[in-house]
Amino acid sequence: MSNAVDVTGRFRKMPAEAGNPVTYTLAVGDDRVDLNDLLGQLVQIDFDGVIRCIHCDRVTKKSFNQGFCYPCFRKLAACDSCIMSPEKCHFHLGTCREPEWGETHCMVEHVVYLANSSGLKVGITRATQVPTRWIDQGAVAAIPMLRVASRYLAGLVEVACKSHVADRTNWRAMLKGDVPELDLAQERQRMLGLIEDDLAALREVHGEDSIRAVDESGLDLSYPVEVWPEKVKTHNLDKTSHVEGVLEGIKGQYLILDTGVINIRKFTGYEVRFRVQAE
Ligand SMILES: [Zn+2]
Repeated sequence: MSNAVDVTGRFRKMPAEAGNPVTYTLAVGDDRVDLNDLLGQLVQIDFDGVIRCIHCDRVTKKSFNQGFCYPCFRKLAACDSCIMSPEKCHFHLGTCREPEWGETHCMVEHVVYLANSSGLKVGITRATQVPTRWIDQGAVAAIPMLRVASRYLAGLVEVACKSHVADRTNWRAMLKGDVPELDLAQERQRMLGLIEDDLAALREVHGEDSIRAVDESGLDLSYPVEVWPEKVKTHNLDKTSHVEGVLEGIKGQYLILDTGVINIRKFTGYEVRFRVQAE
């Protein structure tokens, strides 16, 4: 016996808490829905056609960078291309779009980590975003490798790692639960060996303390998934405004329905009605 859910508002990125399994909350406007409780139930999502920028509330025909209007996309530091390519950080040139935001989001300690989301990958995140970032990527395990002084340096280290390891998640494999087992502590040792010269060169320029190897232990994560999809079909609210299906799992920022998967993050800012009927 469970209660009906009927909420209306803008989708936000799903908050999640580490655990076995991870606990997810669906954020719709000001409402919060405990998703793990809804596994096995029929959920319905209706997009009313309105997208509102998650920064300025303006109505926008199209969502840029997962939830922003075009003016914000052009103006905010969070939407600058150096966020996707941190090695292109231009803070030191005095051209950061929002230097104060840069101070608190980029010029602070970052973690370079290894994760297993669909196989081994390298990634970077602000130290305070661990383990949120790992959960958003649907990683089943992750381990910090280096702590570095800024997002820029993290980007440079990541570039060095990219010639040896992927930096992307194969999200279809991730959603199928198709993930090999890996010994991340061992992979970390191997990777540090492979990038030893790169790290020495970076330390020479940026200071010995700017890049610290860490032996912190990793984190294993499991997800509330009852049925793994055999074929990954995606729902797209831009094309079909009504989506319904039985909730079979939640992983990364995806809801896995028996009719297909939906990436909630992609539809951040979309005004929707989310419903589950009482059993
Ligand atoms: Zn805006």
